[in-house]
Amino acid sequence: MSEKSKKGLKDELLYKKKNYYEVASEEERRQIFAYAEGYKAFLDAAKTEREACEVAVRLAAERGFTEYRFGDALHAGDKKYFVNRNKSVVVFRVGSRDLEEDGFRIIASHIDAPRIDIKQNPLYEDGGMAFLKTHYYGGIKKYQWTAIPLALHGAVILKDGRKIDVRVGEEDGDPVFYIDDLLPHLGGEQMSGKADKIVEGEQLNVLVGGLPMAEEDESGSVKLNVLALLKEKYGMCEEDFLSAELSAVPAYHARDVGFDRALIGAYGHDDRVCAYPALTAVLDHESEHTVLAMLVDKEEIGSEGTTGIQCKVYEDLMEEISLARGANFRKVRAHSKCLSSDVTAAYDPNFAGVYEKMNSAMISCGTAMCKFTGARGKSSSNDANAEFVGEVRRMFAEAGVVWQTAELGKVDAGGGGTVAKYVANLNIDTVDLGVPVISMHAPWEVVSKADLYSNYRAFLAFMK
Ligand code: MN
Ligand code: MN
Repeated sequence: MSEKSKKGLKDELLYKKKNYYEVASEEERRQIFAYAEGYKAFLDAAKTEREACEVAVRLAAERGFTEYRFGDALHAGDKKYFVNRNKSVVVFRVGSRDLEEDGFRIIASHIDAPRIDIKQNPLYEDGGMAFLKTHYYGGIKKYQWTAIPLALHGAVILKDGRKIDVRVGEEDGDPVFYIDDLLPHLGGEQMSGKADKIVEGEQLNVLVGGLPMAEEDESGSVKLNVLALLKEKYGMCEEDFLSAELSAVPAYHARDVGFDRALIGAYGHDDRVCAYPALTAVLDHESEHTVLAMLVDKEEIGSEGTTGIQCKVYEDLMEEISLARGANFRKVRAHSKCLSSDVTAAYDPNFAGVYEKMNSAMISCGTAMCKFTGARGKSSSNDANAEFVGEVRRMFAEAGVVWQTAELGKVDAGGGGTVAKYVANLNIDTVDLGVPVISMHAPWEVVSKADLYSNYRAFLAFMK
């Protein structure tokens, strides 16, 4: 066989992942970097689900989207957003195609992220310092959250029902907060323990003050001083913590990583690196389909509750849209398609042992499709049909999307789940698709700008 025909045979028969940066044109590279700037601004503005919801609504309103309420009439071309309890939002466009035949095109992502939540009776003083007690949210390595600057975000519902928004530690000049760790000089015993015991849950106390109240010589005066400041700033007293929802999140801003700026470091790429492309795809592009970008809450703790995707509100919304369009919801959902858009683990050569390289997502090789997730023999996984995977594959091929498939780690190395199975349970074809992340669930995670942009391009192909 000649070298030439061997090359032809290789091109025809062999599959090889492509690095998006490598195959992107100069113009496309420029787009990759430009798109990342909007994303970084979103990350800094939207560190909690409440903030992400608020920013999404603001961006939608700026583009002429209006609020939808159950029972409202809907017409082809309408641009709407539906807010659920200030913590999740569905942005949607009503398409011209027949809903019963065409169904919805759904991109489902989440806007909650692992963090440190403040307890209901949190404030105490010890050793001349005031602290807030916490209960962590989502799957974290607790030791990673010590000795870094933290910001406090959230809402306090005062006794009279007024809601106070809290956001401290983000602006230049703001104070930040802190969870302390032991100095190495005294850390011998600590360091010989298991990593999940190095710092335990009840040690994740957030340092919030150190100034005793003037002319107060009794113990408890640092706490009292903090309360006086909270009264002055927010009009709240200690009892108001009972109906507060406050979270400590890393105070870092999103930054480029690397001399070449190929990567982005930030808190909470999981899953805003999918939510932002989902949002901007639907906000900025028309479609003949009825397209929904779902930005939901509580994924990190099992998608439960009134704002998690298991809540009936999302099914109700889809049924209401169907009704408003004179369509039978059962027929609509039977023809609907969903990309469950959540992150996956990027292959990390520094921890190669937990990955199976052939089936891991490689950084910058594009957004990654996980046919299945789960653990121990695909348990609790959606495991999408090959037919649907084939259909999505054709959409991406037609649009020239650089993408890859992925499995989260070696068989039996661990595992994880997404919202995919809950959407699929509604009789909607669903597959996972999202950006590979380095150091997922750490206070600062890393993604590739190329993968972010690939994810966006994939959503546009799906909406076509
Ligand atoms: Mn996620
Ligand atoms: Mn997660």
